[in-house]
Amino acid sequence: MLDPWGASSPLDEDDYERIIKEFGIEEVNEVLRQKLRENRFFRRKIIFGHRDLGTIFKAIEENKPWAVMSGIKPSGPYHLGTSTTALEIVEFQKMGGTVYYGIADIESWEDNGIPYEKAESHAIDNVADILAFGLDPSPDKAYIWRQSKEPLVQEVCFKVSRLVTQNMLNAIYGEKTFGLYIASLIQVGDILLPQIMESPQPTVVPVGIDQDPHIRLTRDLTRRYYKTFFLPGATYHYLLAGIDGSDKMAKRNPNSSFTFNESLDSIEKKVKGALTGGRKNKKEQQKLGGEPGKCMIYKMLMYHFEEDDDVLADEFERCVKGELLCGEHKSQCIEKVLKFIESHQKKKEKLIDKARELLKIE
Ligand code: SF4
Repeated sequence: MLDPWGASSPLDEDDYERIIKEFGIEEVNEVLRQKLRENRFFRRKIIFGHRDLGTIFKAIEENKPWAVMSGIKPSGPYHLGTSTTALEIVEFQKMGGTVYYGIADIESWEDNGIPYEKAESHAIDNVADILAFGLDPSPDKAYIWRQSKEPLVQEVCFKVSRLVTQNMLNAIYGEKTFGLYIASLIQVGDILLPQIMESPQPTVVPVGIDQDPHIRLTRDLTRRYYKTFFLPGATYHYLLAGIDGSDKMAKRNPNSSFTFNESLDSIEKKVKGALTGGRKNKKEQQKLGGEPGKCMIYKMLMYHFEEDDDVLADEFERCVKGELLCGEHKSQCIEKVLKFIESHQKKKEKLIDKARELLKIE
């Protein structure tokens, strides 16, 4: 069972195939990928599946409004895993979608016991990050809210609750606390907010596959309660494993990832310790070639730190041919990561006040 609150088992290729079939997710085929080439997450095959993306195309073609909605649980700084969604949102905004970005502070209370006041500082930090990634916060292009301060999303929770039974939530999420069930209904409100605030319009929610239960719940309740609304669509990206070779990035294992706030020294150490797809020794690597598909150095570059597709393709090819060695490639990767983070942290520092203003926090 997929668990959006983090206890899902690590997923391998077979699991992704099974989930796609079991839950009726559509695969991103080549035609679709070509149409969406300007979005690097499609181009690089990081997004592998979707629901109802056709409605977004249609809106783009007909010059009609559409939205991209996602959010963050303000329980700490962005790390390599959580930032994937934020970067996807920025890409969708560039394609013309209006951004709706929810700060899930009700969820961070229900899931992690973080009081709203404490969540505020994480929220400011998270919003400054997404601004530094390039989000345009102009009022006609983006709306950012906190669940605890947005009555419209809370109202959806109350309205749809009369259609929801414990059995239904149990079947989707397994047995959870009542608080998490409530948080999932508030999230239905988050996802429908673009259509509630504006007018019925296609909405895409970029998520990791572990968040699909929320999408299924929202689509089901939209069908039954908000009959004039578009069913919210979604895109699904592969989840990044821990960079140290552990099954997943997890806060309780600090070596599995790094945050965008971390010191450059600490990040350097972690990237140095990252799992590669290299062979036992230089001779074997030259003979057999490396395995970039299993390599966290390659994946870090692909998801976040290498802008140029040609450079990535060249590195992939040289790796599998045994022409690129891990030591050399790791050093290049460290240089790129540190350069990116240093510039990101500088940009972010200047955006803290803007983040406060957007969140309406004094
Ligand atoms: S050469 Fe680079 S991409 Fe290939 S396995 Fe080594 S670190 Fe990974």
